[in-house]
Amino acid sequence: MRADLHTHSNASDGTEPPADVMRRAAGAGLDAVALTDHDTVASQFEARSALPPGLTLLPGMELSCRLEGHSVHMLAYLFDPGHDELAGEMAEIRESRLYRARAMVDQLAALGAPLTWDQVSEIAGGGVVGRPHIARALIDAGVVSTMAEAFSPEWIGPGGRAHVSRYALDPVKAIRLVHAAGGVTVLAHPRGDQRGWQIPDDTIADLAAAGLNGVEVNHPQQDEGERDRLRALAGRLQLICSGGSDDHGALTGFRIGTEIAPDGGYEELVSLATGASPVTAQ
Ligand SMILES: [Zn+2]
Ligand SMILES: [Zn+2]
Repeated sequence: MRADLHTHSNASDGTEPPADVMRRAAGAGLDAVALTDHDTVASQFEARSALPPGLTLLPGMELSCRLEGHSVHMLAYLFDPGHDELAGEMAEIRESRLYRARAMVDQLAALGAPLTWDQVSEIAGGGVVGRPHIARALIDAGVVSTMAEAFSPEWIGPGGRAHVSRYALDPVKAIRLVHAAGGVTVLAHPRGDQRGWQIPDDTIADLAAAGLNGVEVNHPQQDEGERDRLRALAGRLQLICSGGSDDHGALTGFRIGTEIAPDGGYEELVSLATGASPVTAQ
């Protein structure tokens, strides 16, 4: 079973429509693919309708969580998307992403930086404004000379004078909610590149005790040594080993199918879920 359990479409920050992601998944010879856009299931309907014969879609998402000031990503699969509390939290995360950029621009203006929302929106080209666009505006305005300087604590880096946090879930709460909605959870890229933070073994053990089902072992940002350590940890904690390419289309070089879940991982996850079923072409 070749199953890539981590991909994104343009419903979040991928570059391609869900139908194109499904076509590439089939083209890459996958048996199953999970579409895991950030904090939304908006891509699932289109993906279902465009599902090529022979490919199974595992409905999912990647939930934005925060633990002790660090960003943590939680993959969730086969939950009931209509579950009230879970759907409410997802909507709150999405809304806060929109408002935080505006709040950061206001804060920068209050600090005397000569930039406006219109300038920043123009840089974003009509897309959702993110911190890289604000950083670019700070460079254009001559406030800083590099992106790194913009992302420092002086400006919009974590803890910075004009940094505004967006809403994110406590990972233990995320695990509880996804389970309540009949789904299963996999901790995404615990040793990937997350602004320098690697999720420690003890924290993964705490999440396992809270009901986490699996851990993403195969991920492009985790080398063989890290994968060995994660496999050993998963064995001790009785977590399912998962894997995926984290494909974002052009943004990550179209890498769908380059990483798959280890043998049995897909089947184990599916066997534990009750909120939804894998989808095959009609
Ligand atoms: Zn992630
Ligand atoms: Zn991702």
